[in-house]
Amino acid sequence: MEAKKIRSTFIEFFQSKQHQYVPSSPIVVKNDPTLMFTNAGMNQFKDAFLGNEIAKFPRVANSQKCLRVSGKHNDLEEVGVDTYHHTMFEMLGNWSFGDYFKKEAITWAWELLTEVYGLDQDRLYVSVFEGDQGDNLGMDQEAYDFWKAIVPEDRIIMGNKKDNFWEMGDVGPCGPCSEIHIDLRPDAERAQIAGKDLVNNDHEQVIEIWNLVFMQFNRVSDGSLKALPATHVDTGMGFERLVRAIQHKSSNYDTDLFAPFLDALAKKSGKVYGKDLPTDIAFRVIVDHIRAISFTIADGQLPSNNKAGYVIRRILRRAVRYGYTFLGFHEPFLYELTSLIADNFGDIFPEVRQQQEFIAKVIFEEETSFLRTLDNGLKMLDQIKAELAEKGENVIPGKTAFELYDTFGFPLDLTSLIARESGLSLDEKGFTREMEEQKSRSRAASESETGDWVVVNEDDGVEFVGYDFLEADSRIIKYRVI
Ligand code: ATP
Ligand code: MG
Ligand code: MG
Ligand code: MG
Repeated sequence: MEAKKIRSTFIEFFQSKQHQYVPSSPIVVKNDPTLMFTNAGMNQFKDAFLGNEIAKFPRVANSQKCLRVSGKHNDLEEVGVDTYHHTMFEMLGNWSFGDYFKKEAITWAWELLTEVYGLDQDRLYVSVFEGDQGDNLGMDQEAYDFWKAIVPEDRIIMGNKKDNFWEMGDVGPCGPCSEIHIDLRPDAERAQIAGKDLVNNDHEQVIEIWNLVFMQFNRVSDGSLKALPATHVDTGMGFERLVRAIQHKSSNYDTDLFAPFLDALAKKSGKVYGKDLPTDIAFRVIVDHIRAISFTIADGQLPSNNKAGYVIRRILRRAVRYGYTFLGFHEPFLYELTSLIADNFGDIFPEVRQQQEFIAKVIFEEETSFLRTLDNGLKMLDQIKAELAEKGENVIPGKTAFELYDTFGFPLDLTSLIARESGLSLDEKGFTREMEEQKSRSRAASESETGDWVVVNEDDGVEFVGYDFLEADSRIIKYRVI
């Protein structure tokens, strides 16, 4: 089944269960000062769960564009290195606002995966909240019983509060969740180690595909839980992972969602995907990042020097840098991939087709200017290497690496790579010190953390340092974990 069909089947399945299809909200969040990018399907329904707004429809389904590149939901370092975390991905979801609850959510999820998509039941595992003494909560017996009616008991896993109890924050709606995992290993490997033991273990082939959250409590300010007057369902399924499972691939990148992009890159670079790891990572990083960049620009966020714009600029530079170093692209190349974005995603997300020319133009300009600074930075590095050789030294000082970063937008890992290639090392601690000093010079900020939401105060009008440092930085305000 092709990816497009898999997506439409999800929507049609839930439409047949009286769900209203709602288009994805923008990936860039403009009307919520506490959130930079959409990182889960429920973001656009936050007010309905909080009771601030009455839901327009009791049952909703959609495919939401999500971006997880900063704060608690920062998957960036995994992207390209593993084969199932993306920066930008689609989250398929179905919701009930005060309507159906666990029974329907569970039985429909199972029906869709096994009967409609035909996934092998033997490869699926489900998890149930085991309870938590601090909250005086027992296990989620209800969910367990509904699962037990359809899944052999040895494939039901008990999960702790971290994995199986979803909370919006210090206060607010919350509840237990059930995750669905799939074991995509070959039979011989499955016979040796039970998939159950590999769930939630960072195994490349045993991956989480769907999270079903059952909102039934409200956490109040004294920390206790009160039963909600109405219960809700909030689910999120990684579309690219689902496609991989249905298409029997061992990597998200081997699906028809990414194949045209990998092919185009291979053709243009003359390199082959699937031969050696560093090249493969570069391929994967680029085909992942072009999606994040294109969708974000289409939603109105241009690359810039601060906040969300800087996050996008850095992702773009990361892709350019991988192309430059590993695929030999010394001229702009990313912008050419935007036509594939339009062709492959224009039906479901018309904005990327309508704005394709504009997106290509923005990316081309960014690439051109960064490639120029890359060249300049490389020249500066040559000079530094010569000076070091003269002095008989072999460590690039942190201050120099910081200057390259600050003036030329030169990522530290690139400086580090080039240093290694020249038999030099790099004073990373010195770099971090310089960074810290610049940060303390340029802003005063405070941060406080409340549950799954990181709440940060920001001091407007100062330069944003970049996503690499977002954890310690004061820009990001709020994140949600489901
Ligand atoms: P994981 O444990 O694999 O990081 P998660 O528990 O963080 O996933 P959820 O917040 O539960 O993910 O999101 C719901 C679903 O979205 C997941 O079950 C998964 O299929 C998908 N998903 C989450 N993060 C990513 C990502 N970075 N790229 C692609 N799909 C993702
Ligand atoms: Mg995660
Ligand atoms: Mg998880
Ligand atoms: Mg999860």
